[in-house]
Amino acid sequence: MIFHVLTLFPEMIAEGMSHSIIGRAQDAGIISVNAVNIRDFSEDKHKHADDYPYGGGAGMVMSCEPIYKAYDSIVRERRRRSRPRVVYLTPQGQVFNQEMAKSMAEEEDMIFLCGHYEGVDERVLEAIVTDRVSIGDYVLSGGELAAMVMMDAIARMVPGVLTNEESGSTESFEGNLLEYPQYTRPEVWQGRKVPEVLLSGHHAKIEEWRRQQSILRTLLVRPELLDGAELSKKDQKYLEGLRAQSECKNNAK
Ligand code: SAM
Repeated sequence: MIFHVLTLFPEMIAEGMSHSIIGRAQDAGIISVNAVNIRDFSEDKHKHADDYPYGGGAGMVMSCEPIYKAYDSIVRERRRRSRPRVVYLTPQGQVFNQEMAKSMAEEEDMIFLCGHYEGVDERVLEAIVTDRVSIGDYVLSGGELAAMVMMDAIARMVPGVLTNEESGSTESFEGNLLEYPQYTRPEVWQGRKVPEVLLSGHHAKIEEWRRQQSILRTLLVRPELLDGAELSKKDQKYLEGLRAQSECKNNAK
């Protein structure tokens, strides 16, 4: 899969994507990251890619033409008939989640447009953008960190990026549940012991404990996820038990 990133700070993308699992996936040729400097497409002799906002107000706005030309250079190189998926990173977009990561991992390539300053001239967004995506309800200085968050999550879903040991199939949000707690050596740390069942070597019991911990965690931290969770009859019974316990506690207060 190829990630094209339209940005004013290509070094940020190259550096941020060169480590760990994502760096290894690039070395192996499973994904590639093509950071395109929008400034290279500015006709301005100082390579400006922004201007003052019409109507006044604080800050600068990124101009249409350098962004459009940078986009067009990618489209021409692609030589495919279909239009590429173009994500504009914006706090005004749909909030990114694991489902979106999975669906985007099926694309052969994608373009990310990173805004800066006050944002981007609306007209070029109308012309090229297919998806407006936010990584959460807060405002960042630029879209680069947001694009890297998305690329990391999407790349993990591309076949071959994770090894079997790192498999994404048991991680949080699979089946709309959070993952169970994890432990490693030593067995006792600062007086805190690893749960006995994990030392038992009894695989079925360990699986059952992990499943119950996932349900418990989700109920405590993100109960709204449980509405869409894939729960067996046994899971549902366990969840009902947890809910009944918490009702008893509330009534006793
Ligand atoms: N004036 C814009 C607004 O109020 O919607 C915010 C501009 S922000 C300072 C600059 C750039 O950072 C945006 O164009 C966008 O690319 C990026 N950005 C900021 N917050 C983001 C978020 N939560 N998710 C994705 N991108 C974000």
